[in-house]
Amino acid sequence: MEEDLTTDLLVLQSHLDGMLERVQHNSLALRRFQVFEMGLLRLNSLAEMIEHILNDAKAFFDLDVISFCLLDEKGDIAKYLEEDGYDYRNTEGLILLQDKGKLQGILGASGRPFLGRYQPDNCSVFFSESQKPASVAILPLTRRGNYMGSLNLGSYKTDRFIIDMATDFVEHMVSVVSICLENNLNFETMRRTSLVDTLTGVNNRRFLEQRIGEELDRSQRNDQPLTCLFLDIDYFKKVNDTYGHQVGDQVLMAVAGAIKKQLRSNDVLARYGGEEFVALLTNIGEDMACAIAERIRISIKELPIQFNDEGIAVTISIGSATYLPGRRVQMSSAEIAAKLIQNADAALYQAKNNGRNRVEIGGMVLAVKDLPDSKIA
Ligand code: GH3
Ligand code: MG
Ligand code: MG
Repeated sequence: MEEDLTTDLLVLQSHLDGMLERVQHNSLALRRFQVFEMGLLRLNSLAEMIEHILNDAKAFFDLDVISFCLLDEKGDIAKYLEEDGYDYRNTEGLILLQDKGKLQGILGASGRPFLGRYQPDNCSVFFSESQKPASVAILPLTRRGNYMGSLNLGSYKTDRFIIDMATDFVEHMVSVVSICLENNLNFETMRRTSLVDTLTGVNNRRFLEQRIGEELDRSQRNDQPLTCLFLDIDYFKKVNDTYGHQVGDQVLMAVAGAIKKQLRSNDVLARYGGEEFVALLTNIGEDMACAIAERIRISIKELPIQFNDEGIAVTISIGSATYLPGRRVQMSSAEIAAKLIQNADAALYQAKNNGRNRVEIGGMVLAVKDLPDSKIA
C-alpha cells in the first residue's frame, strides 16, 4: 500500500516536472516572440522590416530557412524598395508576387496557418529547391480579409512543425507582422504621393520647398552653382478654351514629360502651380543653364501633340536664375531660396513681355545680402 502510494507520488512528481518544464519553455518562447514583436514595432521603413524578418527572425526562432512573400500586384513595393536603394532582387528569401490568384490558390480561403511536412504544392513558391525544408509553417498575412503575403518558416527537422501543433504564439506574431506591414506600406505610399503631382507625375511644390534648402546647402558645401528655371506654358488658357480641359490636361502631362526628359535624374522638377514648373539644376552655371533651357524650349515647341488629327502648337517661356555660393554667407537658405525663385520668376516675366517662346536670364544670386559694393569686403 505504502509502495503504491510512493509510486503514485513519483508519477505525479514526474508529471509536475514535465508540466513545469513546458511552462518554462512556453514562457521563454513567449518572451522571445515579445522581443521580436517589439523590434518590429520600432521599425521605420519597409526595407527595415524586411531585414528584421529575414535576418533576425531566423536567429530568434532558430529556423533553418525563412522566406517573406509579399503580394505586389501593381509593382509598387518593388518601386519603393528600388527608390530607397534596396537590392530586393538579390535579397534571399524575399518574394514579390504579382499574381493575387496564385497566392490565394496556395494559401487557401481560410487564412489559417499551415503547419506540417513540406508539400511541393503549397511550399515550392516559398522555398528554393536547394534549401527545401522538411517541415514548414506557412503563415498567411492578412488585413481586412485580404491577403498581403505570407511569412514562411522552415526546418530541416520533420517534427519541428507538425499538423496539430498549437499556433497561438505564431498567430499573434503574424497579426503583428500584418499590421506592421500595412502600416509601413501606407507610410511609403503617403510619403511619395504627398510629394508628387497626381496629374503630371512630377514632384509638387511641397517637395520643391523641402528640397531647395537641401540643394542650396549642398551647393554651398561643394562650392558649386545651382540654377533655378521657372517655366510657364504660353497661352495655355487658349488651349483649354479651344480644346477643353481634358486636352489641356494631356498637354500638361506631355510638357512635364518633355521637360523631365531634358534633365538629369538628380535634377529636381516640380509643378509649381497650374501650368508653371520649376526646375533646380545642380552644379549648373549660367551658360550651361541657358543651353539647357533652350533645349527644353525647343523640345516643347517640337512636341507632337495631336487632337482629332489636328496638331496643337505648344510653346513655353523660361526664366533662369543662378545661385553662386560664396564664403561670406549672410543670407539664410530660406532667404536665398526665395530670392532665387523670385529672380527666375522675374526673368520669366521678361520672357513673356519679350514675345514668349523664349528664354531670359535673370542673373546671379550671391550668398551675401544686397549691400552697397563698398560694404562687401
Ligand atoms: P501666358 O502665356 O501669359 O502664360 O498665358 P496663359 O494663358 O498660359 O496664362 P493664364 O494664367 O492666363 O492661364 C493659365 C491657365 O492654366 C488657366 C487655367 O485654366 C489653366 N490651368 C491651370 N491648371 C490646370 C490644370 O490642371 N488643367 C488644365 N487643363 N488647365 C489648367
Ligand atoms: Mg502661369
Ligand atoms: Mg501660361
